[in-house]
Amino acid sequence: MHLADKKLEPIWDKVRHEVRLERDDALALFETDDLLGVGRMADHAKTRREGDRVYFVINRHITPTNLCVLSCSFCGFARKPGQAGAYEHTIEDMVAMVKDETREVHIVGGHHPDWPFEYYERMIEAIHQAHPDVQIKAFTAAEIDYFWRRWKIEPREALTRLKAAGLRSMPGGGAEIFSARLAKLLKYTGKADPERWCEIHGIAHSLGIKTNATMLYGHVERLDERVDHMVRLREQQDRSGGFVTFVPLAYQEAATRLVPRQTPPADSLRTIAIGRLMLDNFAHVEAYWVTLGEETASVALHFGADDVNGTLEDERIQHLSGAKTPAGVAREQLFRMIRDAGKIPVERDALYNVVKVWN
Ligand code: SF4
Repeated sequence: MHLADKKLEPIWDKVRHEVRLERDDALALFETDDLLGVGRMADHAKTRREGDRVYFVINRHITPTNLCVLSCSFCGFARKPGQAGAYEHTIEDMVAMVKDETREVHIVGGHHPDWPFEYYERMIEAIHQAHPDVQIKAFTAAEIDYFWRRWKIEPREALTRLKAAGLRSMPGGGAEIFSARLAKLLKYTGKADPERWCEIHGIAHSLGIKTNATMLYGHVERLDERVDHMVRLREQQDRSGGFVTFVPLAYQEAATRLVPRQTPPADSLRTIAIGRLMLDNFAHVEAYWVTLGEETASVALHFGADDVNGTLEDERIQHLSGAKTPAGVAREQLFRMIRDAGKIPVERDALYNVVKVWN
């Protein structure tokens, strides 16, 4: 491979010989002007694993409430009781949101001030009983930690009970950026810190619950903090092995104005590519079209991503934070994103079992 930046050649040697990259390699990948070189290396790593396959799922986002006891400064979603726009769904509402063709339900919400743990348990149980074939992916590690902070339910007990109720996997949110500096600056100190977030994912993995991992980037974090985040995820994966997908989340500037502009597509493409190259023990890296936009998500399929998430139907967290993409898309739009990149759409379930290859 011809690389415009010769400093990348030792990294390319490692990539093609499947040698693990180090922190300094990741920083060099963030700092080089040779974005296309970074992308081609990531594409090589992705293609070696998955060929031209790109995954998607017919899913439904359910956000039970936006009431939250915390006030993270990057969040445009949360509301306080009585505030305009605050809402709470009933369990019946949530059961009714799931359609027959849905394969995955993704449930994430605010840290509600009063809902007891049993409410969440009943929520999962009711959805599972009404739709036993739908896989339920629910509650970030931050929410599981909150069940401990608020109700003194230990994560192992919470996850064991939720699994018995029908939980199948966990999303990767609440990780933000693993940095004590940013936790203080962005006021998310009341939330699971990196050690706790990783501990909870480790517990989930030990219980046979697969999980994802996110990274919120494009705000006021430094590049070395992004690298540190990825290294910590990789180390946790070495320990517990249950992460499935890395999901980089581009910060949406509109609602909270933490920074005056949306991070540019080139930064997202580079971050996705470096995620693919650094997280050699993660099976999948996602181009989350909601925060990227459909066009950038499609291009990201040449930068190491092998998944575009799904139809979502009603995404709220990023949209209340200013995302300009639609709140959901039809299967045909996902096909377009994937086929525009010259890739093959593969419909999956929540656990990456192949439902259908759409040649
Ligand atoms: S990011 Fe999550 S925990 Fe923080 S304020 Fe928003 S909903 Fe609450």
